[in-house]
Amino acid sequence: MDCLFCKIVKGEIPSDKVYEDELVFAFYDIHPIVPVHVLIIPKKHIESINDVTEEDAEIMGRMIFVAKKIAKEVGVAEGGYKLLIRTGRNGGQEVPHIHIHLLGGGQMREGIGLAR
Ligand code: AMP
Repeated sequence: MDCLFCKIVKGEIPSDKVYEDELVFAFYDIHPIVPVHVLIIPKKHIESINDVTEEDAEIMGRMIFVAKKIAKEVGVAEGGYKLLIRTGRNGGQEVPHIHIHLLGGGQMREGIGLAR
């Protein structure tokens, strides 16, 4: 399948990997919008939240759990952070493979990025 994030999971496109288990893969965003910007994705190709089925419940739960683990490991858990899932055109989703943005490293503003 011609999917950028599936290729990252398979190692066909290099990434700065943070975490991997049998269901989930995580890596640093190539264009960070905040000091700590990690993407957490399912290994299974699921295009968007609109495509999640009941049988994906374990995967989706694992992604949140992994986000929590990574937040602790990279040192943003205590100060706080934001998790973001864009969905579809109006949601601004650019890569059609579900991903949670883990955004941290400073005070978040209401929109996206750091408060100024
Ligand atoms: P979204 O707009 O929510 O679909 O987010 C897609 C994200 O993927 C953006 O923040 C991009 O910077 C990021 N991205 C695109 N290509 C790569 C890549 N090869 N490695 C890491 N992050 C990427």
